[in-house]
Amino acid sequence: MICTSFFELFKIGPGPSSSHTVGPMRAANLFRELVLQYFTHYGAAGNYRIRCELYGALAATGHGHGTHRAVLAGLFGQIPQTVNTEWLSSLLETAGEVYMPDFSGLKMPFTEHDIFFDYTHNPYRHPNTLKLVLLNNFRPVFERIYYSVGGGFIEEEGAATLSANTKKPRYEYHNMDSLLLTLQAQNLHIDELLLQNETALTGLTEEEIMERIGQIMEVMRQSVRQGLKKEGILPGGLHVYRRAKGMYEKVQQHAQHGRHAEALFARLNAYALATSEENAAGQMVVTAPTNGAAGILPACLEYLRHDCSVPENTLRKGLLVAAMIGFIIKDNASISGAELGCMAEVGSAASMAAALFSYCNGGDIHEIGTAAEIALEHHLGMTCDPIKGLVQIPCIERNANGAIKAYNAYLLAAGRAGIGKPVISFDQVVEVMRQTGQDLSHKYKETATGGLATTFGWGNMPGS
Ligand code: SF4
Repeated sequence: MICTSFFELFKIGPGPSSSHTVGPMRAANLFRELVLQYFTHYGAAGNYRIRCELYGALAATGHGHGTHRAVLAGLFGQIPQTVNTEWLSSLLETAGEVYMPDFSGLKMPFTEHDIFFDYTHNPYRHPNTLKLVLLNNFRPVFERIYYSVGGGFIEEEGAATLSANTKKPRYEYHNMDSLLLTLQAQNLHIDELLLQNETALTGLTEEEIMERIGQIMEVMRQSVRQGLKKEGILPGGLHVYRRAKGMYEKVQQHAQHGRHAEALFARLNAYALATSEENAAGQMVVTAPTNGAAGILPACLEYLRHDCSVPENTLRKGLLVAAMIGFIIKDNASISGAELGCMAEVGSAASMAAALFSYCNGGDIHEIGTAAEIALEHHLGMTCDPIKGLVQIPCIERNANGAIKAYNAYLLAAGRAGIGKPVISFDQVVEVMRQTGQDLSHKYKETATGGLATTFGWGNMPGS
């Protein structure tokens, strides 16, 4: 049964990676709470330190993604929604600098030497593993193992899913087929069912939910608008130029010359580049469903809002429908590049965006499902091999392509209306993605040990 709420899937936080920054920051914050509880019970007298160990993809691409900074920010008690991104990107930049996070009066020293990147072994069950240990006089007091399972969601070893909603939805479904049956049995439209589920999961009224969806969409819109204004080179040493502004300037030229297809593509490209470049620069974005794929849905929303004048209320409901696609993929496969490769991130985002396009253009649930299926099907096999562990190459252009593919998937789905049931269903393609991702070599799952990350001599050491 799907119990994920819209607001768990779409979270505001700093770039560049939801599994490498948002998740670890949340984990460190949870650990901080445990340390505070411990000091309340046993006192804080002693020589305390916290050690952080990063394994798997968190180690392999952690430097490039800023995982070390996210952990330290979490130990300071910062949370992704409100952390100051400038302060965050300055952390651990100077060798030997000592930070003093305050644990209710006890200031505990923390330096870069308190973070250990294990590039060779991961003895744990998930590719994104983070271990935090409280030490007193160099002896462990207690430890916790956290898994960053994609999109900023965190699981703790031996505990129930930390981000799992304990409330139940009003209408149960676990995939598209069961959703279709429920819609038919209850005689409900898809947006009605999803809104009623959100009220049950969050305790909010429908009006409050719509308002909060609007707030999330505003952060997305700002990420597009800010990104369209900026120029220059992105941080990280790859010398990747921001291109959103220049691409947007091309839109008018294309339109003036009657090149309408080019103008449409340039718009979607520019909007997707804008948010993805903001994400790569560590600015605030929304996990959609992850930070690596955060450019696609804002781009499609911006196109529908700004260029197609789709009403705000329709967009909000459309984003709720897009979330439903994300819920099903997350529940039955994964939205994590470290687990299943980029098809799980950019593929999922494109699938969600195809559903958004379809809903906003009047598609029924069958057409929405077909659009989502087509978009996901044509991302199957896509590898995750970011160069230097930065979310720049191939990630930024991949978002632009994802937005274009989403639009085309909607067109393909709309164009086949009346032909009968598609050969491949949405549920089937989700299962194929899960199997394909499992078969994919670990080299292509955010480990920086293959593909673009190593082929052209970039080396596989983070920060190299
Ligand atoms: S290649 Fe894809 S999955 Fe990997 S970090 Fe980039 S956007 Fe995310």
